[in-house]
Amino acid sequence: MPQNLRIPGPTPLPARVREAGSWQMVNHRGPEFKALFGRVSSKLQAGFQTTNDVLITGSSGTGGLEAAVVNHLSPGDPVLAISVGVFGDRLASIATTYGADVTRPAFEWGRAATPDQVRDAISGMQAAGHSPRAVLMTFNETSTGITNPIEDLAAVVHAEAPEALLIVDGVSGIGALPFQTDGWGVDVAVTGAQKAWMIPPGLAMVAVSPRAWTAAETATMPRFYFDLKRHRDAAVKGETPWTPAVGIFFQLDVAFELIEAEGYPAIHARHAACGAAARAGLAAMGFALFADAAHASNTVTSAHLPDGIEWSALSKALRARDTVLAGGQGKLTGRILRIGHLGAVNADDIVRALEALESAAHELGIPVVSGGPAAAAAAATGVAVIGA
Ligand SMILES: *Cc1c(COP(=O)(O)O)cnc(C)c1O
Repeated sequence: MPQNLRIPGPTPLPARVREAGSWQMVNHRGPEFKALFGRVSSKLQAGFQTTNDVLITGSSGTGGLEAAVVNHLSPGDPVLAISVGVFGDRLASIATTYGADVTRPAFEWGRAATPDQVRDAISGMQAAGHSPRAVLMTFNETSTGITNPIEDLAAVVHAEAPEALLIVDGVSGIGALPFQTDGWGVDVAVTGAQKAWMIPPGLAMVAVSPRAWTAAETATMPRFYFDLKRHRDAAVKGETPWTPAVGIFFQLDVAFELIEAEGYPAIHARHAACGAAARAGLAAMGFALFADAAHASNTVTSAHLPDGIEWSALSKALRARDTVLAGGQGKLTGRILRIGHLGAVNADDIVRALEALESAAHELGIPVVSGGPAAAAAAATGVAVIGA
């Protein structure tokens, strides 16, 4: 039985995407690559729901986050970081590392940020004479399994600090969950290859608004490899400034054929069904879900580990059943488990993961109620599946 890889990235590759990774190289300054680059760039704009430039860096998602910071800010700039978990903290740390003056209010992990919290944070900074130059937020906080209501949070930022750039880490959400870069006024949005796009790690995608380009002209944080202006200048010629990850570009091109055949409404519905299945199944088994139900993510589901259960023992028993789930990160290490369900995932994959979890729990003497897999299947009936 092939491994049921249920972590929130890298996500499993469809067969056609795997094949494309074995193709012979082409000249990355030649006509084949230029045509491919044009195709994937316009399909990324559709994926981000934007008419802005979407640049592609040769890095994991974190490289895209670094690009989002260093191209648009200067040392000393007041920045508000809305962080509800490990990835929000990472984005804030990048800004701090490059010298921004970062205000990071405390948020409870497992809950979404609220418009009132963002309003209060902005007015607190303004009262101290430091209206934010940028507001950083995470669309889908992978470490806790929460999706922030970016539309509502963005509206507060635009109303209270209209001059602030809105920079959003969309790595584990864009492409799988509804997201409107232009409609919500997101200045810089970032994704990474190995999450919703069903391709291997190694590319990050960064959408940049005209306002953000203007800010880039005077922003003085140091940058070279991740200089987005160099990426834009090269993109005009259908190229990247440095040698691109050619094989992953082939795979992205093929992945977009699958994405276009399915269509974003069906993709969003499939992720919603997988999220509903994971939550219903875990709850039926007696696991306490970790994330606030009102903002639970449809790409990753988190649940408390029962008292006295070692994550290492449970993950080993799962692995013996060809099932790989994720544990907790940061301060949640050893406290939660996470089931990833983004990219090429169907509800049946969740059902099988829960069957393995039920069986592993029995082996370890963890009391779980039976019927979780059936509850998961029932929660996801009637949803179209993605083929290989
Ligand atoms: C995966 C992920 C990232 C990027 O991580 P990399 O390991 O650098 O690809 C950033 N933000 C979120 C929310 C993520 O889920």
